[in-house]
Amino acid sequence: MSCEQRIPREEWQQLLIERNPEWAQLDAREAPDGDADLESRDFSDFEVPPCPYCGGLLKPDVVFFGESVPRDRVDRAMQGLHQADAMLVVGSSLMVYSGFRFAQAAAEAGIPIAAINLGSTRADSLLSLKVSQPCAETLGGLVGILVGVAIPLSVQLFADIRIPISALAIVVAFGVSCLVGLVFGILPANRAASLNPTDALRYE
Ligand SMILES: [Zn+2]
Repeated sequence: MSCEQRIPREEWQQLLIERNPEWAQLDAREAPDGDADLESRDFSDFEVPPCPYCGGLLKPDVVFFGESVPRDRVDRAMQGLHQADAMLVVGSSLMVYSGFRFAQAAAEAGIPIAAINLGSTRADSLLSLKVSQPCAETLGGLVGILVGVAIPLSVQLFADIRIPISALAIVVAFGVSCLVGLVFGILPANRAASLNPTDALRYE
């Protein structure tokens, strides 16, 4: 943190293993929030290596809550935004100003904004399109439709065969996929609902 030097995560992993070889054997369950669960483990003998350059404290090279995004990064993003035809927000409530300011800037420049997010966003009044669905499924569905349309189009282009693409077929295919997703989403959700909340979080 004091010398501003950066080291690759792989290198850091080696330093950690060198100092704590017995910890490398442990297997931790991955929690939904990205944590690794190592409960009932005494952490007092874990050695955190110092910065190899200055001997000081190290932190991950990410912007933490409460920190500011570096000025040049914001400027580059703003520049990109003003060259864009539209803005797509994926999986963010934009409650933090560092993200919301881009939606504000897009709205001021007359750039249309679409958002895929469960729940309300701070930019709801600025949106041209809002899809209240889980991001992975929605983006997956869009990619599926694009691939589905691209394959017959390229066959047509190279093989000189006319393949009509009907909008109805796209809707039916998308509907069936949604139905499958819903059924297989509701089943585990029901099971999870009957569990103790703490157990449910740990359940894969
Ligand atoms: Zn340092």
